[in-house]
Amino acid sequence: MNIALIAHDNKKNDLVQFATAYQTIFSKHTLFATGTTGMRIQEATGLPITRFQSGPLGGDQEIGAMIAKNNMDAIFFFRDPLTAQPHEPDVTALVRLCDVYSIPLATNMGTAELLIRGLDEGFLEWRNILHKNGKSDER
Ligand code: PGA
Repeated sequence: MNIALIAHDNKKNDLVQFATAYQTIFSKHTLFATGTTGMRIQEATGLPITRFQSGPLGGDQEIGAMIAKNNMDAIFFFRDPLTAQPHEPDVTALVRLCDVYSIPLATNMGTAELLIRGLDEGFLEWRNILHKNGKSDER
């Protein structure tokens, strides 16, 4: 499955730790990330990650475009709820698109634990059925 990883600056350490802890599961999937988050996770884990622009420079929107084409299956987006972000409209748009397309989105560690374990248990197999039925533009 295609998985996106994004973390605001104050949450990057948390997401790096999370990706390291669940590296074995993440390694079975195709990973995408915003620029700095992807670099940090790559450095820590060695996992191959397709990196988009940094979030404030359009990376969130690039991931949003993949969601709009139904090409993103799960999102781990560790948001910082205590710091104003210059690209808040992009963040809102990304969350909104997840709701439009019913894409599983974890915005904190608590939900992320459930999502990654559910993913590994096959709870997101409905996404593969959608893809097989031609509901995505590309795979
Ligand atoms: P970054 O972007 O991974 O390039 O820092 C994340 C964000 O702030 O949206």
